[in-house]
Amino acid sequence: MALWKCAVCGAEVEARCKPGKCKNCGAARDQLVKEAPADTKKKGS
Ligand SMILES: [Zn+2]
Repeated sequence: MALWKCAVCGAEVEARCKPGKCKNCGAARDQLVKEAPADTKKKGS
């Protein structure tokens, strides 16, 4: 599962595939940037 963040309104959407648009503000999909989910980060040391 990937996390997508809207560059326009800052809403975060969790989806397997890139959403067609922001469900919060309706921004186009190219405004959605992929974010790395915190729980998949490799633990240090
Ligand atoms: Zn948005």
